[in-house]
Order: sequence, then C-alpha cells, then structure tokens
Amino acid sequence: MQTKTKKYFIFTWGCQMNEHKSEGIAGVLAREGYQPANDLSEADVVIFNTCMVREKPEDKVYSEAGKIGEYKANKPDLLLGVGGCVAQALKEKLFRRSDDIDFVFGSSNISDIPRLIEEARNLQPMLNGRYRPVMAIDKIADKIEDLPFVRVSPFQAKVTITEGCSNFCSFCIVPYTTGLLRSRLPGDIIAEVSALADQNYQEVQLLGQNVDSYGKDMDDPNINFANLLRAITHLEIQRIRFTSSHPQDITGDVIEVMGKPNNICEHLHMAVQSGSDAVLEEMRRGYTKERFLNLVRDLKDGVPGVNITTDIIVGYPTESESDFEETVDLVKKARFGGAYIFKYSPRPGTVSFYKFKPDQDVPDAEKQRRLEILLAVQKQITFEENQKRIGQKVEVLAEGHARAGDPHLYLGKSRDNKAVVFRSLINPIGTMVNVRVREALVAGLQGEIESAPALIPVSVHA
Ligand code: SF4
Repeated sequence: MQTKTKKYFIFTWGCQMNEHKSEGIAGVLAREGYQPANDLSEADVVIFNTCMVREKPEDKVYSEAGKIGEYKANKPDLLLGVGGCVAQALKEKLFRRSDDIDFVFGSSNISDIPRLIEEARNLQPMLNGRYRPVMAIDKIADKIEDLPFVRVSPFQAKVTITEGCSNFCSFCIVPYTTGLLRSRLPGDIIAEVSALADQNYQEVQLLGQNVDSYGKDMDDPNINFANLLRAITHLEIQRIRFTSSHPQDITGDVIEVMGKPNNICEHLHMAVQSGSDAVLEEMRRGYTKERFLNLVRDLKDGVPGVNITTDIIVGYPTESESDFEETVDLVKKARFGGAYIFKYSPRPGTVSFYKFKPDQDVPDAEKQRRLEILLAVQKQITFEENQKRIGQKVEVLAEGHARAGDPHLYLGKSRDNKAVVFRSLINPIGTMVNVRVREALVAGLQGEIESAPALIPVSVHA
C-alpha cells in the first residue's frame, strides 16, 4: 500500500535570519520525505520559528498555539513544534502554558526535528503517568549548524556568514538567545555562493546580526568582512546584498570594496538607534552622533548612489526631550532612504530591563508623540530622496506581481533596494529589467520597462 506523503507548514516570525533558518527547517524535513503544505489543512506537522525581538513574544506563541489546537480537534495527529529564540529562552516552560505544543527545539537543534517528531508521535507516559517533554535544547553550539536548505526563491538566496553577536547592546536580547559571535569559514561561504551562481541565482544576501564583525572571533586577521566581500565580487552572481551593518564595526575597507563597480549593491542597513550621545552610551553602541554622521558622509562619498537605511528606538529610558531633538537632527542630516522606528519596550533578560525601574520608562503617550514626529520627518526625507530618481533608468530584479488581479503589473527591487513597480507583457520574474522611473512616492518608484528581460546584459564584475 502506498503511504501518504507527510506535509509541513512553517510560520516564521522575525528577521531575515529567521526566514533563512526556516529554509533550513524545510530542508531537514524534505530530507525525511516531507513536502510543503499549501495551507494548514494539509499539514501533518506545523512549526513555529519564533522571534523575541518584538513585544510579548511568549503571548503570541501561546495564542497562535491555541489556534493550532482548534485544528487539532478535527485532526488529532497534527503535531506542533516550537523553535527559535522563544524556545531557546523558555525551554520546557512552553509546555506548562500550552497543551497544544508537542515538541520544542533550540536554535542549534534543527537537525533534531525528525527525531522529535518521531518521539512526539510515539509519546509514552512515564511511570508516574506524566509525559516527558519532547524537547532538544542544546547550549548554543560553537559551530553554525550545517543544514540542507530548501530555498523559497529560485533566484534570490540567503547565505549565513555569522550567527550570534558579542556586542551586548543594552536593549537587545540577541546575544542571550543566539549566543556569541560565530563566523563561518570563508571557504565554506564562497563555496556556497559559487554553487548558487552555478544554479543561476541572481541575488545573494549575506546574513549576520552584525556582518561587519565577521571574522572577529577568528585568529586570522585576514578573515574579515571586507576580504570576504572582495572574494565574492569575483563570483558570477549579479547582485550581492548584506544585512545588518553596525556603525561601530564598519571599516574603510568595506566602503572601498562597496565603492568599486562590482556586484555589491549600493544599499546598507545600518541601525543608528539614537542621535543622542548620552543615550548611545546608555545603549552601549560604541559610537557618537558625530562619528556616525562622519561615517554616513564617508559612505555617501565613497559609494556613489548608496541608499542608507536604519533602525531607531524612541523613548529609551533616560531619553530627554533634548536627547530626542538630537535624534531628529541626526535624521535630518543623515537623510536616510528609509527607517524602521520603534518605541522602546523592555525585554526581560536584557541589561536595560534590569537597570531601569518601570517608573524610569518614558510614558507611552510621550513615546508615541516622539514616534509620530520622527516618522513624519523621515517620511518627508524618503519622499524627497525618491523624487530625485524621476527620469533615471534603474536596473530592477523582478520579484513578483505587484497586485493581485493585474497580471502585467510587476514589483522588483533596484540595486539600492528601492521597490519599483512597472508593467510588462512578458513575465520578467527572476530576471533583471531596466525601468525608466516616471513617478516616485514614499513607498517606492514606478516606471516603464525599457528593455525586455532577454536583452539585459550581465553586469561587469570588478
Ligand atoms: S549589535 Fe545588534 S544584534 Fe548585537 S547586541 Fe547590538 S543590537 Fe543586538
């Protein structure tokens, strides 16, 4: 008798690194014969790949697990596994609050998922009648787990270069949930990117919590981010991106490599977090406002057309009105292409959570006021910067349809990471097209296609 193919459905929360981990989870399951389910109703196993960066991550796990529990009423064999940062931090506590969770795995235990599924299916009560929690949570491994990735896109790939972070910014949970910095060997990264080039991937995104710290955990000073980038410029990949950059660690060498005509895209996501020196010191960021603005100047001088985007936290404890005004001033001077702006909220486990008492927190209404002021300032800058692109020809990697119901309207990204909408009668998805920009809004650019996908020349490598 033919056995039914088992299917999985993965929910991913958080950053691009988590999205890539989910590709690793998919790869591990595919190796066991699993296939992706189109929707929850087809799934035999559901995985939550969780994140702790946003507010109240635990509550979200429990409420989403409750929804899976409702599915289980009609499909008792359905299993729910929880991994990612929340699992790494809470471990067996997750079972105490939710009966719907069948197994839990840590950030370095993705390869253990098939065994955990097996154990959860064959669950036996222990002698005292209670069930043993089905769980694999190792200490964050020294090495980065070697996973067989099933990539979501056939033309854009993510490649991990580091995991963890040793910076310990006061507000950030990452070093506690993902461990200290671990860099992959350059040869392994280059081999992976080369293999992607052989499979005709157009774009590779190098991932790390702080890519500029690449190699700092190794003895060889030649292993650093600039040299890694240099090596990758010689590979036959049209576009190389990376995220995230840290103002403290970015070097002149990196700016020099980015400034050469090569396959490294002119986009840099570099979180500034605040424009106040006092707040930056409290946050343990390792730079001042002046140093950051000098870096922005060096990048804009050294990398023609670079688009710098950032993250900012408003209402950090101790942030006074004049501190906030320093941030507004920095945003006006830096003229970021875009910014993710958040209200500070304390995360258990971080330095700032323990250091500041609740009455030292900036009141929420004040945080909201500051958020709205900064959003308005940044929105205007983004609009003005985008307006400068009208009339320009931009190279766009077509990523998908722009709108359901309009088969000829497509959406892609320029090299400097602007969203570009355009019409095409030929389906260009997965290829480079040239688009003449006719309109510019805050959300991105709109234009007309100038060359059919097949006519685009291959970019020149340095
Ligand atoms: S550098 Fe980034 S990931 Fe590392 S501790 Fe600071 S905010 Fe967190």
